[in-house]
Amino acid sequence: MKTCCVIGAGVAGLTAADSLAQSGVEVVVLEARDRVGGRVWSDRLEGGGLVERGAEFITAGYDATDAMVERLGLAYAGMGIRYPDRALRPDPGIDRAEALRVAGLVEAAAAAAGADAMAIDILDAVVEDTRIRELLASRAQSASSVALELLPAERLRTIGHLLDDGETRRVVGGNQQLALRLAEGLGAAVRLSTPVLRIEHGPTGVRVHTADDVIEADACIVAVPLAVTEHIAFEPPLSAERRAAMAAIPIGQAAKLAVPADEPVAAAAIMSTPGRFWAYTSPCDEVGGTVVGSWAGGSPVLDLLEVDEGSTVWAREIRALWPELPALDVDAASMTVWRSDREWTGGTYSAVTGIPDDRDRHPIGDAIGRLGFAGEHTAPRDWTATIEGAIRSGQRAAEDILSTLGEAQ
Ligand SMILES: Cc1cc2nc3c(=O)[nH]c(=O)nc-3n(C[C@H](O)[C@H](O)[C@H](O)COP(=O)(O)OP(=O)(O)OC[C@H]3O[C@@H](n4cnc5c(N)ncnc54)[C@H](O)[C@@H]3O)c2cc1C
Repeated sequence: MKTCCVIGAGVAGLTAADSLAQSGVEVVVLEARDRVGGRVWSDRLEGGGLVERGAEFITAGYDATDAMVERLGLAYAGMGIRYPDRALRPDPGIDRAEALRVAGLVEAAAAAAGADAMAIDILDAVVEDTRIRELLASRAQSASSVALELLPAERLRTIGHLLDDGETRRVVGGNQQLALRLAEGLGAAVRLSTPVLRIEHGPTGVRVHTADDVIEADACIVAVPLAVTEHIAFEPPLSAERRAAMAAIPIGQAAKLAVPADEPVAAAAIMSTPGRFWAYTSPCDEVGGTVVGSWAGGSPVLDLLEVDEGSTVWAREIRALWPELPALDVDAASMTVWRSDREWTGGTYSAVTGIPDDRDRHPIGDAIGRLGFAGEHTAPRDWTATIEGAIRSGQRAAEDILSTLGEAQ
């Protein structure tokens, strides 16, 4: 029986391991943290309200996620809001149809731009109405969590999605159920609290080093965040070209705040036009009531809101933005900060750039012999930074390795 060591028990790594196991490969999954799910991390507030500390919104086109939810016997719950549909405050009075038309022009310009083009240049060149420019800039920065000035044009290729989409969904019981169910199916093959430090790879197999073990396998899939990949020692080392390509990809900084409201709040999503952060309702179906969630994406916004565990500035800003809210129980709030110094956590997600025109994904996702790569940053074009992208990348990495192992027979 062929063997494969998968590194990282986020959605990408677990999907890859699950696909390989279904094809008869014996897998072991090594996870640094003491839980599975990585950036999909569901939690409960005091009182029982569901909180997504990481990925929350499942929107249109999540075909692989839909299929997995069904296969794992899970279900979705509608959130009552549409992710893109936010009331802007103060209201700049933008005509929605006109904003969508301009978004289409921006998408076309971004698709035609070179791999090194920057989002800010496309917006400056294409959008005349300063209010629409500000809207698109703010949505692009918020969704990618990368300061507009550093954002590649690539991220504007689907900007229209940020203005127009169906009802947003979450997995019943929390999105982390996806990872928990996958891990359950893999059983003892998933080893928690086991960070990988070094990977030796060659034409006949791999040796994966943890602090106190060496695992030998026929192949390996690296499914850790982009910034963490830079800190694992590979022997032979990754090429200078690949390392430079990885280092050139900006990594988002973001934070989430969830505060229970004293009374139920009608479904709504409100975005601060000058502050570029937004807040939204999450119904607590199982326990009743409402949690007010808020998202700050991009370091300028985190700085403005003085985002730091223990700080109450952000909660005050939500109150100022949305004065109709009932009392918020700030003492029971949960704040999760996803910053990246390109060290351990890897930050929010990647803003992939530099995809050659003839490629569906960035070459940093390509396998090197028996070494496969998964993770949102290796997802098909336009799906990076999402759960859907993580799943698709895991399936693709498993296919890469199955084909390598098949050829080696
Ligand atoms: C705050 C936030 C909000 C988001 N919102 C959304 C959203 O609304 N909708 C959406 O679709 N997506 C969203 N995303 C993106 C989505 O969460 C990610 O794209 C996806 O979960 C990435 O999965 P992954 O498996 O590639 O990486 P990860 O989930 O990061 O998994 C990588 C795993 O590798 C482990 N690891 C790291 N180093 C090592 C090591 N040395 N050895 C072993 N294991 C290691 C990590 O602990 C982690 O478990 C959000 C992300 C964040 C952070």
